[in-house]
Amino acid sequence: MKVYVNGKLVDKAEARISVFDHGLLYGDGVFEGIRAYNGRIFMLERHIDRLYASAQAIALEIPISKERMATDIIRTCRANRIRNGYIRPIVTRGVGTLGLNPFVCRNPQIIIIASKIQLYPPELYEKGLELVTVGTLRNLPEAINPRIKSLNYLNNVLAKIEALNAGVMECIMLNAQGFVAEASGDNVFVVKGNRIVTPPSWCGALEGITRGVVMELAAEMGYDVREDVLTRYDLYTADEVFLTGTAAEIIGVVKVDRRAIGSGRPGPVTRSLMAAFRQLVQRSGTAI
Ligand code: PMP
Repeated sequence: MKVYVNGKLVDKAEARISVFDHGLLYGDGVFEGIRAYNGRIFMLERHIDRLYASAQAIALEIPISKERMATDIIRTCRANRIRNGYIRPIVTRGVGTLGLNPFVCRNPQIIIIASKIQLYPPELYEKGLELVTVGTLRNLPEAINPRIKSLNYLNNVLAKIEALNAGVMECIMLNAQGFVAEASGDNVFVVKGNRIVTPPSWCGALEGITRGVVMELAAEMGYDVREDVLTRYDLYTADEVFLTGTAAEIIGVVKVDRRAIGSGRPGPVTRSLMAAFRQLVQRSGTAI
């Protein structure tokens, strides 16, 4: 495997950054997760826009242009003969002192990994996921805005630990007001009749690229799609619940806190969105 580090493609074993990099010392940096399907990179521009917006929000200047980032992502995919895979661009603050001051870090490090991912076994897409709500609250948007996709994922990692301890693979994170924010690594949607609802980012949700695509697809399919505040009651009493994310795509949720959702199987709306999404990813994207 070849890994991109600051413009060069190096062997995996040689792909290193300093232990004084603030990305490691403080989780000070930003990243993206992107998929390639059938020789095309899905929603590359949206992911690059989000990467640069995250960097801008933490006052991190990415030393290459968006256009160059796109061609370097493609170059990394080509070097690894990726046609279907998962791409992880990372920009760290760079080497600094042991103090917090980010402005002493003069050289942000750019890393691009192009590899494979399988988050959930295929049969789970048929059976659906079981979730629990966890005690770890989503970070306050006023503290770390959830729209920033930063290297500091400890909030989500703590939630994931709680889910795994409870014997399930994913969880629902609430915000400090008790409203549903998102899952530890995915966005959440509730289906009730013709209405499909997902929490707004001010409730603590990352503005997922998949979430956006699913909202567009659902609107095209005639559903009443909206961002709105959701409580656990809305999850428990939903016709259907599903999660969205680059790695997970769309996956049905069949149980939340031991309450069966709908029929206890991924429902028809979830299934039709899954089908539409799978079609879309095969026929759109930037050629590698
Ligand atoms: N929320 C969180 C916390 C995530 O880490 C992710 C995955 N990047 C998502 C939602 C889904 O976002 P996307 O569809 O852009 O992958």
